[in-house]
Amino acid sequence: MSQVPMELLFYCRPGFERDLAEEVADKAGEAGWSGEAFHAAGGGFVRFRLAGDEPANGLHRALPLRSLVFARQSLVALSPLSLSREDRLSPILEQLAESGWSFESVWQETPDTNDGKALAGLTKALSRPLESLLAKRGALRRKAGGRRLHLLWSAGDRVQLGISFPGNRSELPGGIRRLRFPQSAPSRSTLKLEEAWHEFVPRPEWDERLAEGMQAADLGAAPGGWTWQLVHRGMHVYAIDNGPMNKALMATGQVEHLREDGFVWEPPYRLDWLVCDIVDRPARVEAMVERWLVRRWCREAVFNLKLPMKRRWPEVAACLQRLEEALARVGVAAEIGCRHLNHDREEVTVHVRLLE
Ligand code: SAM
Repeated sequence: MSQVPMELLFYCRPGFERDLAEEVADKAGEAGWSGEAFHAAGGGFVRFRLAGDEPANGLHRALPLRSLVFARQSLVALSPLSLSREDRLSPILEQLAESGWSFESVWQETPDTNDGKALAGLTKALSRPLESLLAKRGALRRKAGGRRLHLLWSAGDRVQLGISFPGNRSELPGGIRRLRFPQSAPSRSTLKLEEAWHEFVPRPEWDERLAEGMQAADLGAAPGGWTWQLVHRGMHVYAIDNGPMNKALMATGQVEHLREDGFVWEPPYRLDWLVCDIVDRPARVEAMVERWLVRRWCREAVFNLKLPMKRRWPEVAACLQRLEEALARVGVAAEIGCRHLNHDREEVTVHVRLLE
């Protein structure tokens, strides 16, 4: 009998399993699906097991990865396997044969934890024999719709098999975007804005949407990591912060530093970009950005919501709902995205683009 995938498997930053589980349960419920989330604190992944007997593919399509905040990767998955250390491959091959899956590539992954990193030797040793057996059986082949098999090893004797589809997955191993720190940037925070652009602005549109000569505001700018990114793209920046800005950045002549309160400062004319990394209550930051967007003071915005509280998902959901409703009320059409990025710690990044 062929095995029907009844689960979705999501990767996340360790420590954010509960947030992701609550998010998925809420969104699945809204889409008319019921099921149960399973996770271990600090494990780095969440399983969502469906209650009915329909394959999980429908829910996977109903919850695109880009619409989820806390998920780094999203897979349609089979039940987890417990293996004996003497013969790990046979049960994997058996489960795959029952699933009838075929795919073009195989990725062995581990959670983003220290225990996960310790499994690197094992996955490396298994990769050749596994791939050659899968190719022999015709499961690993060319022209399989771009599908990819993922093996998530949570221990040396525990693995879960999942499959991903082009257009609804992260193309990065572990769903983690690693970026090189630019040596001349004044703070490591710089990578948060760069990652946000990779996440929310398709690469072919960078020259148009992140263009030389654009005007931007950076609220809570000091010492200038985010301003550095804007300047690097050739923009002119109003840097709003009481704190000191990096001297080399000021010497570019592209930055006007204003020691004002970011929550009350208003731009002199319509800008292209608003970015904000102020550490304050999420509701306060959302209300301020909402004012900018309702008045169309910028075309696009990237801002972080800091989440020091225990239950992060309800806080994020409430902020996003307020923003959506406020824009809808005044008839401002916008694309809104929110993701927990690799360079984010206890915070998430929101992107808004007004659509004219
Ligand atoms: N994004 C910056 C970077 O890459 O270098 C780091 C920003 S840091 C996390 C937050 C900044 O917000 C601090 O420099 C702080 O002075 C500033 N800040 C806090 N409250 C503010 C306010 N009401 N108006 C403007 N800046 C504020």
